[in-house]
Amino acid sequence: MGKRDYYEVLGVSKEATKEEIKKAYRKQALKYHPDKNPGDKKSEEIFKEAAEAYEVLSNEEKKSRYDRLGHAGMGNNGGGFSGQGMTVDDIFSSFGDIFGGFGGFGGGRRGRRVIKGSNLRVKVKLTLQEIAAGAEKKIKVNKYDTCDSCGGTGAADPSSISTCSTCHGSGQVTRLTNTMLGQMQTTAVCPSCGGEGKTITKKCTACYGEGIVQKEDVIKINIPAGVGKGMQMTVEGKGNAPRRGGVNGDLLVVIDEEEHPDLIREGNDLIYNLFISIPDAVLGTHVEVPTVDNNVKIKIEPGTQPGKILRLRGKGLPEVNGYGRGDLLVNVNVWIPRSVNKDELKIFEKFKDSDSFTPDPDKNDKGFFERMRGYFE
Ligand SMILES: [Zn+2]
Ligand SMILES: [Zn+2]
Repeated sequence: MGKRDYYEVLGVSKEATKEEIKKAYRKQALKYHPDKNPGDKKSEEIFKEAAEAYEVLSNEEKKSRYDRLGHAGMGNNGGGFSGQGMTVDDIFSSFGDIFGGFGGFGGGRRGRRVIKGSNLRVKVKLTLQEIAAGAEKKIKVNKYDTCDSCGGTGAADPSSISTCSTCHGSGQVTRLTNTMLGQMQTTAVCPSCGGEGKTITKKCTACYGEGIVQKEDVIKINIPAGVGKGMQMTVEGKGNAPRRGGVNGDLLVVIDEEEHPDLIREGNDLIYNLFISIPDAVLGTHVEVPTVDNNVKIKIEPGTQPGKILRLRGKGLPEVNGYGRGDLLVNVNVWIPRSVNKDELKIFEKFKDSDSFTPDPDKNDKGFFERMRGYFE
């Protein structure tokens, strides 16, 4: 069987630079990639052919031998690869990095399998004060962390780690299955190493070969001002470590709010329900209302109506993005006594026929509609 010239296979001249050869191979490999041409034997042959050509031409020593002696100089099976026996997976384990960053080919399929640990989720309850100011919280978590004894490898010492003999380090095995439609190539996780590509002959005694141990950890997190109930923060890399090396999972912090005794939160606004007496509503007064930080004094005008909302600008909670602040809305109620003594009774009876105490809805209606609209907006 006559082999095609390696330069011809990649479509480059004999003078091509290393970079040009790499580029040409990448182009061929992407075009005839088995993921793009499922079940197409012809594409797979070209894909393998290109890999073989690249394997030789990208290696200075092999290239110069090939330049001098042609295929004859490459030994029985072309050069390093086992010729027809070479699988697509072998190509990925050799040149996987070439596919990296190319739309998920190769790298995503195999090669750099990045194993990520599982995420941890914790709930953090904050007071309104903490939400207003932002908070630094120390969270105690029980999690899987890298074993210090073996550095996460799970091996007693580096010499007890070897490449898996079943999958030759690729972590996957390919099988040819006969189906009604002909032979199909299926890829499965290597049963010997569980996809890790390595086997350990002597396990680390501290972690029993797992590479991880359970540890208690205290994680400091900075919670920005203005967060709200149900929001979730991700602290990258503070979750569980995976078995035998890889990337830690994340710590997911779910925000919860502690109820404030006096203030109700509505978005970034706070609502305070104020009660004043009838005389104060009639005569006017100064009262103190709570905010998240301290009490502030506000003026109640004479003739203030129940249901009036006083807006204290900027006395609410900050926006979580750092721009602006909500308001404190003071909802004014007028306290009506449930019972009165004899003296009070006499006074109020006097007011019964007073013009000023006779309701005049026309004067209040506008305010009422505005308030109701506000509620339903
Ligand atoms: Zn260990
Ligand atoms: Zn294996």
